[in-house]
Amino acid sequence: MPAYKDEIQATVEEGIEIRNGWGPKQILGNGSVTGIELKQCVSVFDANGKFKPTYDENKIISVDAPQVIVAIGQMIDGELTKHIGIDMERGCFKVNPATLETSVEGIFAGGDNASGPGSVIEAVAAGKRAAESISRYLNNEDMLANRFEYSLKPLQEELLPSTKRVAKKNRASADDLPVDKRINNFNEIEISFLRGRGN
Ligand SMILES: Cc1cc2nc3c(=O)[nH]c(=O)nc-3n(C[C@H](O)[C@H](O)[C@H](O)COP(=O)(O)OP(=O)(O)OC[C@H]3O[C@@H](n4cnc5c(N)ncnc54)[C@H](O)[C@@H]3O)c2cc1C
Repeated sequence: MPAYKDEIQATVEEGIEIRNGWGPKQILGNGSVTGIELKQCVSVFDANGKFKPTYDENKIISVDAPQVIVAIGQMIDGELTKHIGIDMERGCFKVNPATLETSVEGIFAGGDNASGPGSVIEAVAAGKRAAESISRYLNNEDMLANRFEYSLKPLQEELLPSTKRVAKKNRASADDLPVDKRINNFNEIEISFLRGRGN
């Protein structure tokens, strides 16, 4: 399961049962939700290491549930952009990675809809990159000249000597609120490093 070890541990501490290797087949119910049917996952990645789960459709279990929360696995509704004719790749908008321009001139895409599931900071960075591209596009400027991906390398080289001098340390972990104080509320669970040390 692609999750951090401490997040898995915190989940188990809260009494949540983790069932690895099952994918959703269908949500069960009759007017309202009563459960979910799951099919067994037999492989997670394709030959190129891309996330592409396959399932054994004959190995099915169902789990009773008064509520089902869909947390991951969202996809683009291709119908929405079909009439514009933007090329898709693995269910996402296909973009030029440097400019984030789609196959349709003047249309740009970034974030999860272009990269697949990513992180907030990647989506923010994509927004910035797309904004730069849109500005250049509207002002008829060179779309590629002096983009930050070309300036990243010298910066890395400049930083390298100092990073080599720094001794490696284990990653620090912040404390969590005790289990009984973090269930059924919206309290911040991760106590900061400073507060965790009693400051
Ligand atoms: C359960 C979960 C936990 C995560 N935890 C983390 C984490 O801890 N740290 C982290 O960095 N990232 C995390 N992520 C990933 C992060 O949330 C995404 O990478 C990020 O939100 C992507 O940003 P985005 O702007 O590309 O897309 P989104 O945040 O999905 O924004 C797309 C927006 O477009 C709207 N929209 C869709 N269709 C239309 C339409 N037709 N018209 C108008 N609006 C529309 C949607 O409602 C949505 O508001 C998590 C994701 C999930 C699902």
